[in-house]
Amino acid sequence: LADIFTKEERSKIMAGISGKETKPEILVRKFLFSKGFRYRKNVKDLPGKPDIVLPKFRTVIFVHGCFWHGHYQCKRASIPRSNNLFWDIKIKKNKERDKRNCLQLKRMGWHVITIWQCELKNQKIFTSTLDNLIRTLNST
Ligand SMILES: [Zn+2]
Repeated sequence: LADIFTKEERSKIMAGISGKETKPEILVRKFLFSKGFRYRKNVKDLPGKPDIVLPKFRTVIFVHGCFWHGHYQCKRASIPRSNNLFWDIKIKKNKERDKRNCLQLKRMGWHVITIWQCELKNQKIFTSTLDNLIRTLNST
């Protein structure tokens, strides 16, 4: 990464690199698969290319990095002090895009579930997050 970023910024970027297969979404997929749920991934013809799509439940799941998607009141989502305005605008844009995608999906009749990276951060939190997810799916 370019040297225009400070150490703090760089570590935020590295923590949330939005590659095709980021680790948190793999964890969620593995869990769902182990529970017998079948899904499609990165469905390109749906708004926002949801990470996980469960057609049978008419449900899409986004697994969001807290920083890039501006998780509200989350420690991991604090805007770096340097280049503050740059990051502020960038993250705001991401959030607006997420909101638009979510609305569009709902209009198309999809249930939209967002799981945040910090909700998977340790075994205990991970388990309760995913138990909630299963409960939500079973009630749709
Ligand atoms: Zn978070």
